[in-house]
Amino acid sequence: MTVPTIQLHDGTSIPQLGFGVFQVPPPETAATVTKALEAGYRHIDTAQMYGNEAGVGEAIRGVDRDELYITTKLNNTFHRPDDARREIDASLERLGLDQVDLFLIHWPLPTRYDGDFVQTWRALIEAQEAGKTRSIGVSNFQPAHLDRIVEETGVVPVVNQVEVHPFFANEDVRAANKKHGVLTEAWSPIAQGKVVDDDTIGEIASLVGRTPAQVALRWHVQRGDIIFPKSMNADRMKQNFEIFDFELEPTHMAALDELDQGEPGRMGPNPDTFDWIPS
Ligand code: NDP
Repeated sequence: MTVPTIQLHDGTSIPQLGFGVFQVPPPETAATVTKALEAGYRHIDTAQMYGNEAGVGEAIRGVDRDELYITTKLNNTFHRPDDARREIDASLERLGLDQVDLFLIHWPLPTRYDGDFVQTWRALIEAQEAGKTRSIGVSNFQPAHLDRIVEETGVVPVVNQVEVHPFFANEDVRAANKKHGVLTEAWSPIAQGKVVDDDTIGEIASLVGRTPAQVALRWHVQRGDIIFPKSMNADRMKQNFEIFDFELEPTHMAALDELDQGEPGRMGPNPDTFDWIPS
């Protein structure tokens, strides 16, 4: 199975499907990512906050660097530029890389650091100029946050990684991303496993002879978003990878679109108020 790549506005490209390692326990990360690599994944989404960059680094050692696409994210603790600079280097060290493919600001934290996420964005711009990351982007940025960094720096993130799944389609943010030429990366793409309990998704899955997770992931792919489902289980990793040999009909896509609950469908924190800084 070949994973399609999508071109980003800075001229680089990204595999549309990757493997996410949020909540993969650090001691199990190397073995889990090794299984994902065996299943065919080459795009890995990690973060300083997940505490498992070293495990990702261990698993990718020996894999041809050109085949890999590695994303990591700046922890909420390190929004001040001096901290960001130091910790970007620390991420590279843990991952065993000279350069990552994509570095993101994990959360905007508009109620912290005097609301100044622009200074943090400038630190990422600097890191890109220094060759420490090929591309830079953001995560959990609301439309106003996106407008502000673009206006104040003139540098447009290549992606905005936000919560998106059939129960929370997050259309306002997707539209804002599109307006700026920013690609949407959809986190928790199978709603942390909840798509398996949905009757509509179950019915479509039976009709097309696939699993509910595959149907939900295929919905994202056909909407043009980038996804990286997480699984600790080799069979489910494989299942989540096998989504490029079938297509959902427009009526199925529309039925999935209808599952959007708006704000009540959100499972994670609201980026406008989320202010957690790990100690
Ligand atoms: P997902 O939507 O990927 O769901 C993962 C859950 O679904 C796990 O419990 C997993 O269990 C289960 N699962 C996986 N595959 C299947 C399947 N085929 N059938 C049934 N159940 C399945 O949630 P995540 O929150 O992990 O999101 C994915 C990635 O997005 C993260 O790993 C991370 O990289 C990123 N993310 C980013 C955030 C951000 O703020 N930027 C926030 C949250 C996530 P099991 O392991 O047992 O298979």
